[in-house]
Parts: sequence; structure tokens; C-alpha cells
Amino acid sequence: MNFREKLKDKKRIVVKIGSSSLTHPETGNMNYSKIEQLIRTLTDIHGTGRDVVLVSSGAIAVGRQVMNIKPQTLSEKQALAAIGQARLMMTYQKLFAEYNQVTGQILMTKNTMVNALNRRLAQNTFEELLHLGVIPIVNENDTVSTYEIEFGDNDRLSAIVAALIHADLLILLSDIDGFYTDDPHKNPDARLISLVPEINEDFLNMGKGTSTDIGTGGMSAKLSAARVATDSGADMVIMNGDRLDAIPQVLKGEEIGTLFLAHKNKNFDLIDYLSD
Ligand code: GLU
Repeated sequence: MNFREKLKDKKRIVVKIGSSSLTHPETGNMNYSKIEQLIRTLTDIHGTGRDVVLVSSGAIAVGRQVMNIKPQTLSEKQALAAIGQARLMMTYQKLFAEYNQVTGQILMTKNTMVNALNRRLAQNTFEELLHLGVIPIVNENDTVSTYEIEFGDNDRLSAIVAALIHADLLILLSDIDGFYTDDPHKNPDARLISLVPEINEDFLNMGKGTSTDIGTGGMSAKLSAARVATDSGADMVIMNGDRLDAIPQVLKGEEIGTLFLAHKNKNFDLIDYLSD
């Protein structure tokens, strides 16, 4: 069976973009042409009748640029997140509006997910927004999350969102082309893996020690996200955020990036994945 072909049938897609894909590496300024391309692509995917959710990082990165300071303390970081999140949403809303696409903001905390009532309410809100044809834009509520209670990174957050709303595909936009046998920045012999049927020890070992410096999620964070997503019943694709034009090709079944296959655990309970 061609697993890639099955991506054509995906109906509910969560797309995660990180700070490093939204900003210019030289300056940290927002990369507007990339953001614009992302928005056009997501609106078009939505236009094909699919539900689309965007999980976007960048609150702190954008806040830093706006205020031109490097945060030293947690409260400084949280203040920058408040400033940057608003700026980020303003930019998203303005650009989505050009294509008549309505968006909504959902800021989540780990507490929201751990509490059964809050979790259900969050799920209902997502359902309602999707029913209304809205593209929800999600981030962690960094202004109130602390290190002890945070999700940690948006790779995990996006997988938790995918599980919560029963998405059938999660796309992680990364700063490399996919999942490699080793860190391609350090090892020229590292090979891109096109298909991960199941996340076993070998794959976990390959994911160790790769990271990016702007965002928080290295490959091991992506593997941990893959575990949540695939156990919940969603396929997951890691692909390069520099090739946003390739997202529709992935949805046509083309072999781009790395595909992690869903293998729904019938006893899947999101709460089990929130504690580690
Ligand atoms: N929530 C953080 C922010 O928006 C990003 C976390 C992450 O990049 O994984 O700045």
C-alpha cells in the first residue's frame, strides 16, 4: 500500500510553524513574504474543504524584536510574549483577511489540558470554530505558563492539539527537510528517512542531539510529538518550513519530508501524554 497516497484523503490538518521559520535568521525580524506564503497556502487548503488549524510560535521572538531587548528573567520573557503574541496575531489577521479567511486565537496552558472540564471546553471551542469555517491560531499562553507547568515546546503542543480535535494529519514545519539518520548539520552522511512506520528505539537514538537555536524543539521534541500524534490516530509529516509551496504537494501524496504513520492506540487517553 502507498501510504503517501492516503494523505490525499486527510480532512483535518494541524500545521505547526516555529519561530525560526517565521523570522529572518540574520536579524530576527519577521519574514513577511514567508508568512504571506503560509497564509495563502493554508487558506487554499481550507478552500478544498478541509479543516485547518495553525499552531504558531513566535510570541517571544517577535516581542524581542518589537522591544529590542534580550529577556533575562521569566517575567521579562512573559512580558515580551504578551507584546509579541498581539503583534503576531495582528499580522496573521491582516494577511488572512486579504483572502477573506476568518481566524481565531486559542492560547493554551498545560493546566487547561490536564483539567477534564477545561479540556472538554477547549475541544468544544475548536469544534465550533472549525464548524464556522474559521482557522484557529494556537500558541501556548506564555504570559501565564511557567517552566514547571509549560508544555515545553510547540511541537508537543501541536501534537496535543491534533489529538484533542481528532485531526488526521499533523504537519511540523522544521528548519530541515525531515527526519535524518543523524544530524545533517554535523554528519554529511546523514540520510533523510522518508517513512517511519513506528517509533522504536532506533529512531529515538537517531533523534538525539539535534536542535535549532531560535525555537525550542529539536528532533527529540519532534519525536515526542510524533508519539502523541501517531498514538492518537494522526499521521505526522516533518518537512522544511522553507518550502511552504510543497505543503499542497504533500497533500497530493508526493514523497516530501518524513511521514510518521498513525497507529491508533485504542486505549489512547490524552491525559497519559500530558504528565511527562
Ligand atoms: N510559545 C513560544 C513562543 O511563541 C514558542 C515555543 C516553541 O517555539 O516551541 O514564543
